[in-house]
Amino acid sequence: MASVSNSDRRLIKRASDFLLERYEPKRHHAAAAVRCGKRSYLSLHLDTSGFDVCAEASAVAKAIVAGEERIDAVVAVLWDGSKGCLPAVVPPCGDCRQLLLEYAPSADVLLCDEEGELLSVKAEELLPYPYRSQGSFKLLDFAKAHESRVKHPKERRVN
Ligand SMILES: [Zn+2]
Repeated sequence: MASVSNSDRRLIKRASDFLLERYEPKRHHAAAAVRCGKRSYLSLHLDTSGFDVCAEASAVAKAIVAGEERIDAVVAVLWDGSKGCLPAVVPPCGDCRQLLLEYAPSADVLLCDEEGELLSVKAEELLPYPYRSQGSFKLLDFAKAHESRVKHPKERRVN
């Protein structure tokens, strides 16, 4: 966990300004910005009747499609359209934490703590027990360790 830099604050401002400009109820209530070196990429949350596409996911995809190989910082902001409020920095959802871990593990993810203070956390720290496709081997090890208590269905006697 670290404090945010001036370039982090500029990234938050860019995401907030973008959301204020492009907000649309029930379609775009969140925006994200990713910084790759001196370039940044902006994107919106896509709300649909079937599934949603998170702003962070579409911003990361935009950067990767543009050829970026390293993402330095990520931020998402949320706004409900209230004229008296400004967009607020929000943490990534579980799916986005997995995405960031796999595509930008060393990126600084900008967050707010419970007191509203901005902070920066490495993407790889946001998901301490991630899904891994090789995790099935661990399940096999677990089954092997408990095989005396677990019987294969074919081994069970049918009465
Ligand atoms: Zn998400």
